[in-house]
This record gives sequence, structure tokens and C-alpha cells, in this order.
Amino acid sequence: MVRPTLARIDLGAIRHNVTAISEVIAPARFCAVVKADGYGHGDVPVASTALDAGADSVAVALVEEGARLREAGVSAPILLLSEPTPDSAGDVVKWDLTPTVYSEPFIDALAATGAPMGVHLKVDTGMHRVGADPSVISDLVARVRSRDGLWLDAIWSHFAVAEDDPEFTLRQLDILQTTAAGLGAEITRHIANTAGALLFPEARLDMCRVGLGLYGFHPSPETRDIVDLRPAMSLVTHVTHVRRLTAGARPSYGRIKPLEADATVVTVPVGYADGMTRALSKNGSALINGRRYPLAGTVTMDQVMVTVGDDDVAIGDEVVLLGRQGDEEITAYEWAEELGTIPHEIVCSKGPRVPRRYIS
Ligand SMILES: *Cc1c(COP(=O)(O)O)cnc(C)c1O
Repeated sequence: MVRPTLARIDLGAIRHNVTAISEVIAPARFCAVVKADGYGHGDVPVASTALDAGADSVAVALVEEGARLREAGVSAPILLLSEPTPDSAGDVVKWDLTPTVYSEPFIDALAATGAPMGVHLKVDTGMHRVGADPSVISDLVARVRSRDGLWLDAIWSHFAVAEDDPEFTLRQLDILQTTAAGLGAEITRHIANTAGALLFPEARLDMCRVGLGLYGFHPSPETRDIVDLRPAMSLVTHVTHVRRLTAGARPSYGRIKPLEADATVVTVPVGYADGMTRALSKNGSALINGRRYPLAGTVTMDQVMVTVGDDDVAIGDEVVLLGRQGDEEITAYEWAEELGTIPHEIVCSKGPRVPRRYIS
């Protein structure tokens, strides 16, 4: 017995997005960012599909995320986007991960493993999250090059506002380029996330680290003219209960919305514990039989009610909370706007009770 609620992941959409973005950024390489369980889509299926569709490498935030991919048989390069603690150096070697470095203790810990290894040196060009200040880069490079077995494979950075501030973005790019040029040799460089890769051709450099676009989302309205992307995730369930209620009834906790007329109200087995955020109670919608209906009241932990008026809706009818049904679509942008956030957070917030079903 299983609840019909699931996240449907369209791997065909992932494949399409890799191909479409690769065409735009070529000859720059495509690094598929699959941190946080592939932005909620499943890291192993997304990584495998992206690599199969032409991505050259993948990137993760944590050593344990890299280890999961290796255990699942992913053999492509796996870039760590931040330094783990120095005592993780052994695991970096064990799982054959490509380390990002920006501190002396971590460089020393990698050297102490004795393993031969290329590293990616991260420069802080203005994001101020992680990375070394440009002023200490030459010291860090010297430290890497002085250690047996360690060599510098790339120098890189990360954009803070590529979707809406060209001036700051180009300043970041300039700092990376100047710092890289100071190293003398022709060194591999990367800086662009999805927004940077699509909006700034000069920022594509040797490789782009693509997350958002991989999952089918545009970082800004302007990128819609540059590439066609398809969202891969839908949140889908079935109607489990149907009631006819009279005008004035106020379904759910808090009794926030009175029915304006007699109406059919259906119950849907998805709630805030599943990622159907409670803040959607007021203005959220659901798609049933290709039509859009309003939520009938507060989203509860496991269930939510939907007002379908006088329409004929039955137990077992498919309900789409996020995604497309017929000609109607509820997008992660719509949720994000209502919730004051970005699509990244919407797709990462699917609860652990929601299984994923993959379609191709
Ligand atoms: C998450 C992340 C990315 C991907 O960014 P998107 O905007 O999702 O494309 C790239 N680089 C770094 C360092 C990141 O942390």
C-alpha cells in the first residue's frame, strides 16, 4: 500500500537541457552541478543522464555526496565546490574527488596523503563565501607546486549576481582573469554558473558549472531568448476524498476561506511535510483534469483541500501541484514568487516521504 504522492522526474528534460545549454556554451565544457541530491531530483540519475548527454564532469558540495556518486558507479571527474575539513583529505583521495583548495591547512592535508592529485584553486572575486583573497593566490600556488604529487589543474571563482548586475559580474570576471594571468602559464579557468554561462559569453572560459539550467529553470527572463529549457520535476498525486459543501463552509485549520457558493471540495494527500509549503494556503492552486483550481484552505501536514466548484471530480483523478497537466502549468517560478524565494529552493524542498519516479 503506497500513497499516490510522488515527484515525477523527467530525465528526457534533463537530457534536453544539457544538449541545449552545451550548444550555447561550446566550446566551453559542461560541468553538471548535482549537489543537494541533484537539487532534489536525485543525484545519481541526474549525473548519469547529464554525463550520457554530453556533460564532461559533475560537481558536488560535500565529500559524502561525491562518495555516493562513486559508489553508484559514476566514473567522470567529480569536483568538490568547497574545501571540506582537513581531516577529510583521506576520503577525497579514497573517492577520487577533485579537490577545490583555498587554505594552507587543507593543501597541507592533501599533500600529507602522498597521493598524486590535481587541485582547483578557488579565488574570492566578490561573492565572499569561500575562496582565497586574490592577494594570497601566488603564495597558495607556490605551496601547491612545492608539494610532491600536487599540481594546479585550474583556477576558478563564483558569481554573486550574474542574473542582474553586469557591472559587478564583469568586475568579478576581470579579477579572476588578472589573477590567472599572474600565474604565468595558460591555466584552466572557470567562473560561470547558469546565469553567467547564458548571459556572459566572455565568462564561459574553459568550463561552466551548470545547476539551475540543468533542471530546466531560467535564472532570469532574458535567458528565455537564449535557450529553451524544460523543467524536469513535477509534484503529482491523486484525489482521495470528495465532499459537497454548502456556501459559507470554511475547510481546514484556521477556517481562513469561506466558500462563496455551494461547491465540491476534494482532499489531496500532500502537505507541508512533503514540501507543499503552508505559505501557499492563501493563493496556491492545483491542477485536476487539465483545469486550475484554488486551494480550499490551510495546507496541513499531510493533506490539502481543493475547491472544484460544480465540476465532476472523482477519487483517483490525478492532481498536479507543481508541473504541467494538459494545457495548464504550475511552475516553480509561481511558487517562488508567492513564497519570496527562488526556484532552487522549491525543488530542493521536497520532503523525504515523497518518492521519485523517473520517466524518460
Ligand atoms: C550551486 C553552484 C553552482 C550552480 O549554480 P546555478 O545557479 O544553479 O547554475 C555553480 N557553482 C557553485 C560554486 C555553486 O555553489
